[in-house]
Order: sequence, then C-alpha cells, then structure tokens
Amino acid sequence: MKILVLNAGSSSLKYQLIDMESEKVLAKGNADRIGIEGSFCKHKKDGGEEIVKSVILKDHKDAIEVIMSLLVDAEQGCIKSMDEIGAVGHRVVASGEYFKEPTLVTEESIERLKKTFPLGPLHNPAAYTGVMACREVMPSTPMVLVFDTSFHLTMPEVAYLYNIKYEDYKQYSVRRYGAHGTSHKFVSGKAAEYLGKDPKDLNIITCHLGNGSSISAVKGGKCVDTSMGFTPLAGVCMGTRSGDIDASAVQFLANQKGMDINQILTYLNKESGLKGLSGGFSDFRDLRENVEKGGETGRRAQLALDKFAYDCKKYVGAYMAVLGRVDCIVFTAGISEWNGFIINQILEGLEPYGISVDKEKNTDSCKVPVKDITGKDSKVKILVIPTNEELVIARETKEVVTGK
Ligand code: ADP
Repeated sequence: MKILVLNAGSSSLKYQLIDMESEKVLAKGNADRIGIEGSFCKHKKDGGEEIVKSVILKDHKDAIEVIMSLLVDAEQGCIKSMDEIGAVGHRVVASGEYFKEPTLVTEESIERLKKTFPLGPLHNPAAYTGVMACREVMPSTPMVLVFDTSFHLTMPEVAYLYNIKYEDYKQYSVRRYGAHGTSHKFVSGKAAEYLGKDPKDLNIITCHLGNGSSISAVKGGKCVDTSMGFTPLAGVCMGTRSGDIDASAVQFLANQKGMDINQILTYLNKESGLKGLSGGFSDFRDLRENVEKGGETGRRAQLALDKFAYDCKKYVGAYMAVLGRVDCIVFTAGISEWNGFIINQILEGLEPYGISVDKEKNTDSCKVPVKDITGKDSKVKILVIPTNEELVIARETKEVVTGK
C-alpha cells in the first residue's frame, strides 16, 4: 500500500508518498506560496534530483493537482496513476478533546474538525482546506486525520489540568494538550527498538528541540506529561516563543507597552525566546556565529543559548521526578541533531543521577538512525534520534484504513 502524507500550512502543502511495505519515501516535496504571487512546487523522487517548478497555485486544490501531476509524471513521478495511492494521511496540529485518536475523514469528522479551529487558529483551518481540496481531486481515496496532540492524550488529569476553576476546564476545554506528539511517539518507539526492549518496560524523557521545542515524559510507551500547553507557546525557551511566563507579567508588559491581548500574544509567539533574548537571532546557527563575534552581541547570543539549556535542564529534572526511574533520554530535531554542545550543557551536572554523555561521540551532526552518546558510567542511555513524523502519520493512516 502507498500512502500520501499531507501537511498543510496556510500557504504551503508539504507531501511525502510512502510505500508501506518498505516504509520507503518514494517522492516528497512542498507546494509553496499558495495564493501568493511567485508560487512554486519543489519535488524530489527517490534517487532523483530535486526540481523546482514555477506554477500558479491559486489555492490548495491547485496545489494538490500539481502534486498529483508530478507523482504520475513519466520522468519525475513514481506511480502510474493516482489509483495507486491507497490512502491519504492529513497532519492536524490540534485535536482539543474533539478527537482522541487518528480518525477517518467523513462528513461527521469534518464537522468536528471545524470545532477545533480556535485551538489551532493558524494550522487547523489549513488542514481543513487541505482535506476539502483533496476530497475534490481524489474523492474515492480514504483519508485520515492524524493529530499532533493524540500521543499526549494519555496524560493524567494532574498533568493536563491548569489550576483554574474546574468548571471552566469542563466548559471551555482549557487544559494542556501539548504538541509534537508524532515526533515524541516516533523517537520513544525507536529508542525502545534500539535498546531491544518492550516500550512497556521503559521510562523515557524525549526532547524535541527545533524552532519549536517540547519535552515529554513517556512511561511504559505512554505520554504522562509534556512541556507545551494549551498551545505550543508554553514550556522551554524557543526560537521566537517565550515558553513559560507568569500571566501577571504578560498583563503588566502589555500595559507598559500599550498592547492589547492579541498584540502581546504576537510578541510572545514571534518576538521572544532566543530571538528576544539575543537581540534578533532565533536560529542556532546564527547564535553560534554571533557568540564567536564576542562583545555585547556575543554575550547576548551566549545568554540565549544558556537560557535555552537551563530551561531544558529544568524540564528534564522535573520529568525525572515524575517518572521516578529513567532508562533513557532521547534528543531529536534540528537543534539536537546539529548542536552536540547543547546536549552536554543540558545534562551537565546530572552525573549524581547516573546521567553522563560521551563527549567524543556527541559530535555536531547525526547522520545515523540512532546515535548513542551514552557516557561510560552512565546508567541512563542517552540517544540522538532524527525524527520522522511523516512515517508515524503514514503508519497511523494505514492502521485506520486497514485495521492493522
Ligand atoms: P522546525 O522543524 O521546528 O522548523 P528544526 O527541527 O528544523 O525546526 O530545527 C531548527 C533548528 O535547528 C534551528 O535552530 C537551526 O539552527 C538548527 N539547525 C538546523 N540545521 C543546522 C545545522 N546544520 N547546524 C546547526 N544548527 C542547525
């Protein structure tokens, strides 16, 4: 069976066609600048060169039609006809409490999907648009909604509740949902596979450190806590997001700066985190370059990196307490895969808890499916595992469609 995984943003549509027998990516790409001048589609088939095609993409339906034409193209494609696509898996960022698991697209589930818009205002309407466009282009192909938040729905009440009036949680579903669930699921499963253990027998802390970062506690294969909250704004310092902040400080800052609630949230989402602390640099590559420059610029860049590592250390420590016994700590996503020093810094000083890193093995790149950087005397395994969210979406789509 071949499964098309779609990840729709408001003006982009990323795709991968995956063969489920071999779990190999047959082709992947991105239709970009949908509805904006200068739209194009990047496409690469397995073993081929990446091509960039300038095309007019008025909307997501145009994008899906272009993607289909590339997938069946005699030269660039990898299938003879659209009928070879057994199912489509759509990535959806927020499920709220409306969906507990990956769900087949039906009239009813589409109506329910609309109710999730306020929980993922930027992403969920885009996913809906992607679903509707896809239904028009391939009406008889089964489709599945796969949610970033599903993996976190096993959290106990004490982990997901905010300490507000319980009645308000009930009425408005205001609670912790987390994000990056497919990634935490993939890397915790891969760690168990690497360690040759049943996930049920393992307690793992998973650290997804990218532009958006989140840390989860995974007990016996199930998520029991995660650092992101009602939205991805909570938790550790991120590229441009503040992470955790006292709500009163938000009100105070808004008043001082003459901002309304929407403006202050944009400030916290887009102008804060590493960017805010360093004075403009949200990307680890830029931060490292600026540290080298020294002076005040270098000091601020270093401060941002130090704060990021400190926040991550605090969550790792908290989840050690939540889990009691920790068997493994896994690092994934761009920051983890390309910046060994930050893992050293996050775990520094945790030797009394049986945690240490082999600094020689902890190089600045991860080109293998699992990089084991466990220190000689470490009781806890320390792994770097590149994530594969599309594969999790494809696997879950297959499970819903075929029942296995
Ligand atoms: P997202 O998918 O959330 O956009 P990524 O997982 O791609 O984020 O991670 C982005 C982060 O990874 C950035 O801080 C970036 O600097 C860092 N990163 C990516 N590639 C490299 C690299 N070659 N060297 C150093 N850092 C890198």
